Amino acid sequence: MSVEQGNLSVNTENIFPIIKKFLYSDHEIFLRELVANAVDATQKLKHLSSSSDFDKTATSEVGELKVKVAFDKEAKTITVSDNGIGMNADDIKKYINQIAFSGAAEFVEKYKDAPNNKQIIGHFGLGFYSAFMVSSKVEIISRAFSAKEEEAVHWECEGSTSFELEATTKAERGTDIILHVAEDSEEFLESFRLKGILDKYAKFLPIPIEFEGEQINDPNPLWTKSPSELTDEDYLAFYKKLYPMGEDPLFWIHLNVDYPFELTGILYFPKVKQELTASKDKIQLYSRQVFITDEVKEIVPEFLTLLHGVIDSPDIPLNVSRSYLQADGNVKRISSYITKKVADKLQELFKNDREGYEKKWDDIGLFVKFGMITDEKFLEKAEKFALVKNVDGKCFTFDEYNEKIAANQTDKDGKKVWLYAADVQKQHTFISSAQKRGYDVLVMDSMIDSHLIQRLEGKLENVSIRRIDSDTADKIIAKDEVLEAVLSEADQTKVKEIFEKIVTANHTVEVQAMPTDEMPVTLTLSEFMRRMKEMAMSGGGGMYGMDLPDQY
Ligand code: ADP
Repeated sequence: MSVEQGNLSVNTENIFPIIKKFLYSDHEIFLRELVANAVDATQKLKHLSSSSDFDKTATSEVGELKVKVAFDKEAKTITVSDNGIGMNADDIKKYINQIAFSGAAEFVEKYKDAPNNKQIIGHFGLGFYSAFMVSSKVEIISRAFSAKEEEAVHWECEGSTSFELEATTKAERGTDIILHVAEDSEEFLESFRLKGILDKYAKFLPIPIEFEGEQINDPNPLWTKSPSELTDEDYLAFYKKLYPMGEDPLFWIHLNVDYPFELTGILYFPKVKQELTASKDKIQLYSRQVFITDEVKEIVPEFLTLLHGVIDSPDIPLNVSRSYLQADGNVKRISSYITKKVADKLQELFKNDREGYEKKWDDIGLFVKFGMITDEKFLEKAEKFALVKNVDGKCFTFDEYNEKIAANQTDKDGKKVWLYAADVQKQHTFISSAQKRGYDVLVMDSMIDSHLIQRLEGKLENVSIRRIDSDTADKIIAKDEVLEAVLSEADQTKVKEIFEKIVTANHTVEVQAMPTDEMPVTLTLSEFMRRMKEMAMSGGGGMYGMDLPDQY
């Protein structure tokens, strides 16, 4: 074969500068793309070798398949080699000159006017042509699995639309992609840089990846194995591998589905702390063991981003914008599948080990509540395993709680009244007075609780959830007998007068006689003033910037 020169058939005169500009922030993915192609080439060979006509065409045994990444600082080259299926001249013309190139051209055509390139590019793999983001020249030396040593081919292209293709010799089957690194990309000619990129993208590729004489990957990561072969120690060890600094997770689910979409993975439940952002966005998304991104916000409901672990699915489209992703049918199915699995796991733990589940509640409660507030489907399932805790530290499901208070905590419409304290210390007088009357008081003291209360009020039938106050118990709960106040009416008036003199603030005080000795009378701000105070405290209303106590 003589030297063949040709022009890549695209409209754009020179797409390479455009590719470069577009992928500005993501240059490092060239290595992911080339290594992924190399792995694909070995997988294709493996696949072919299991078919019956392989023997007739192959020049050698399949042997041990692997990919090697090397660099030469002097020569300014990076080489990705594989002993996979290889390409002959026709393959190169077809797959590289035409298909790969038209893919790249199409990409540029589509996105060249897009305003924010980073967003679109994030997940996009440009394939082979991403090599030109960092190279002034790219060479391919390839020997197809069916070709002899002297039938290998050599292709090169200098980042313009013209290329050269000629015959060459190659001792081993497979492909070497040689990048002549461009001046502005010499940062990639460093061992730590390449190692870092490989660690990020290639750590779990399915065949050995060698760099500087060492295998850098684990070809059989835990999520690809069968759960029945695995122990708790295996799962915990894998968690450590993913998050070396992380505290042990509480439990996990192993995902494995192949219809109507393909998905494997392991999701871990970490201890979710009040500071939600510390747990968020740790899930890694893979596609056939190639790391894609750790931004899965568009793929799973927001509350699930609190989980950790790995999702691997070739069915999540990676080359589209985010808004499209959310509308994608597979993504929707995947998202509800994961939500269901997570709810099932919680239900199972609750059912099989109630005691253990209650112990974990402080660490998973936040996650469950966040899910209930933000995801309708999850809310429906969680109603069976979400817990409420009372001031004595006892846990109840919603149903259990309603049953507990059914006898004496209902309002005049027959609604069950859940009394809760948002601040146990501040409200202790109200709590003990309610308890004296035989009422139960829940603790709902976090930010998320106040959102949850709103959500549940609309959702739980026949339940009214009320913050405990001086008068909630009296005004709301229907009762037969009127409890005697400890102070006489005359005394109450006196107390009121005294306090009105003391309290010179610009608001009125309510005085109420209580039926207990330790708290014969309470003075409270009106509900209006309490809200004003809350607004002022939360910084919401500068004009109410006063520090009002809500109980005297
Ligand atoms: P994609 O991998 O998405 O098909 P690429 O642009 O990365 O797109 O590659 C185009 C084609 O070139 C591949 O589908 C494959 O047929 C061929 N190819 C690329 N790299 C190799 C390789 N290392 N060995 C064999 N074939 C390859």
